[in-house]
Amino acid sequence: MSQSKNEVVIFLGPPGAGKGTQAERLAAEHHLVKISTGDILRDHVERGTELGQQIKPMLDAGQLVPDDILIALIRDRLADMEGVRVIFDGFPRTRAQAEALDVLLEEMGAPVNHVPLLEVPGQLLIERIVARGRQAAARGEAVRSDDTEEVARRRQDVFREQTQPLIDYYGARGHLKRVDGVGSMDEVYARILDGMR
Ligand code: ADP
Repeated sequence: MSQSKNEVVIFLGPPGAGKGTQAERLAAEHHLVKISTGDILRDHVERGTELGQQIKPMLDAGQLVPDDILIALIRDRLADMEGVRVIFDGFPRTRAQAEALDVLLEEMGAPVNHVPLLEVPGQLLIERIVARGRQAAARGEAVRSDDTEEVARRRQDVFREQTQPLIDYYGARGHLKRVDGVGSMDEVYARILDGMR
């Protein structure tokens, strides 16, 4: 990976593909800031902010939060950065978000560098998400309200309809790298790094 001041990585992939875990490690090992929109939105819900109250029903239903809300959140996050060394996890999820991000990044002189796409077969995604919910419950941890089988399936549908088009969007710009997301965390991580060389 480049040692330049700016580095922008976008993790693409369906819910349950392991974006969050892989992005966390990449961020820690390469001095990048991970921006996870799911985490930011869930934090608003937990704190009961005005935004949190507005978006809770959408998260619970596995639907996307409106683009203008997400774009404003990301604009704020990027605003006070000097060098832009970031990994986006869960953003952009629609074409409108991708276009808005391109404009923001262009203004900052920090174009997108890498877009790993984590590929995992559909049935395995649902199994992983349901298992994640069960494990959290067994450990006495908070279970994500959208980690039920029904909502997990809806999130996959939303991915196919709204986010899948971004594969072509970034593919056409030459940034996309397909990564086999089946295997151990270490194996998948090694493949991601390979793709960014
Ligand atoms: P997953 O990838 O497992 O579905 P995330 O934590 O990325 O989980 O997102 C959880 C939920 O937060 C989504 O189902 C959606 O409601 C909302 N969300 C997160 N990121 C976005 C985004 N970029 N645009 C719209 N909604 C989002």
